[in-house]
Amino acid sequence: MRVRVVLFTSDLRIHDHPPLRAALNSADAVVPLFVRDRGIAATGFPAPNREAFLADCLRDLDAGLRERGGRLVVRSGDVVDEVAKVVAETDALAVHLAGGVSGYARRREDRLREALHAMGCDLVVHDAVVTCVPPGAVTPAGRDHFAVFTPYHRHWSNQGTRAVVRAPRAVTVPDGVGSEELPARTAVSGVSPGLAEGGERAGRARLTAWLRSGIAGYEAGHDDLAGDATSRLSPDLHFGTVSPVEVVHRASTVGGRAAEAFVRQLAWRDFHHQVLAARPAAAHANYRAQHDRWRSERSAAQEVEAWRQGLTGYPIVDAAMRQLRHEGWMHNRGRLLTASFLTKTLYVDWRVGARYFLDLLVDGDVANNQLNWQWMAGTGTDSRPNRVLNPVAQAKRYDPDGAYVRRWVPELADLPGAAIHEPWKLTGLDRAAYDYPDPLLDLSDGLARFKSARGLD
Ligand code: FAD
Repeated sequence: MRVRVVLFTSDLRIHDHPPLRAALNSADAVVPLFVRDRGIAATGFPAPNREAFLADCLRDLDAGLRERGGRLVVRSGDVVDEVAKVVAETDALAVHLAGGVSGYARRREDRLREALHAMGCDLVVHDAVVTCVPPGAVTPAGRDHFAVFTPYHRHWSNQGTRAVVRAPRAVTVPDGVGSEELPARTAVSGVSPGLAEGGERAGRARLTAWLRSGIAGYEAGHDDLAGDATSRLSPDLHFGTVSPVEVVHRASTVGGRAAEAFVRQLAWRDFHHQVLAARPAAAHANYRAQHDRWRSERSAAQEVEAWRQGLTGYPIVDAAMRQLRHEGWMHNRGRLLTASFLTKTLYVDWRVGARYFLDLLVDGDVANNQLNWQWMAGTGTDSRPNRVLNPVAQAKRYDPDGAYVRRWVPELADLPGAAIHEPWKLTGLDRAAYDYPDPLLDLSDGLARFKSARGLD
């Protein structure tokens, strides 16, 4: 019996899955394998919200495989050791894997290739599974990646994407391959109460609902904080329960400017992935040096804690930080203005904020999180690295009547209209009746410190 192994990582789906399709096409049986990788645990990356979402994803992947006559095999340990054991147990001819972009994923591929080669087994790495366009597929002349989004986007759009691969009808798994019990969401503690449900079924349902009734309003509504009019597909894209290629194909059939604006966001996702693939150190080191002498977590302990807890005294910042804690997800506009507040107004190292986001975000992703933080800190790919988002101006623009703040900062809920954004200005009110802090600092003081640090004054 010809056996092949499919190692699932950030691609926890059956639909549009080239590694699974290729393995099935060339084998009598496949082992769909997921390794709870000790190496990833050692990096400190796992966090309760992502662990809980992952548990949903694995259960759903198993259910999808079972409907087709197969099942998911789950093991724990070092990923290379575990794959090698399964290969030895089944005499597998090859292991199929989606290509990754992080330094960790690249090292995993190298280690697997070497270990499998010694066993006479091939490693087949498939591109365009985790991203639409693989890193390195479009590059500027003489360089290994695009550092500016606009030309990247042009080339990305011209490049097009591969065809969508059909889900298999049947999956045969060899007898006798042992699996651990699947993890359960309920076994994870510290999960955000409003965390979304994970899994391919839930992800595909979100995608279908979005294409039917959400996407049309995307261009006009994507920055409206209270309107919550974005796809919320980021966790599905992070875990690969929906395929970015399929998302682009299906969105493109909807057509129109809104769909174009939405597809452009998928290009941003690929853009950050190709930056990280070319510069893995950007996960922790400045992509572009600005010679900042950031305040550290220790030197700004009180302010950092107020930021984390949603108690800065700037209601829009606090609302977004509380949404993050409650849902394990935050609106993009909220991410931008809370990141600007931490790095530019409080002048705290972007890594402090990126770490906290990764502790909570269900879509927490090394490429998207670290490089968006760097973008906002001005150490990344932003062509205007010194831009500062004023939280009050942002609030008035993107939450004009205060509905978003009212939802997440209930202690201010009965303040009228846009006045909710500047509670410190309200006169004739019994301030003591509002259990809400005064602003941590004056915005103009923060701006002056930032300008002086960057030599802009
Ligand atoms: P939509 O607006 O519906 O967009 C569709 C998809 O496009 C998203 O699901 C996402 O995959 C992609 N996308 C959208 N905006 C961006 C962007 N700026 N960069 C890269 N991809 C994008 N996104 C993550 O997936 N994981 C993260 O860890 C993450 N951290 C961020 C940290 C900061 C400081 C900032 C400013 C942004 C971060 N983003 C991150 C990007 C963006 O905020 C989220 O992808 C988006 O808010 C998710 O909501 P959505 O799925 O409704 O997005």
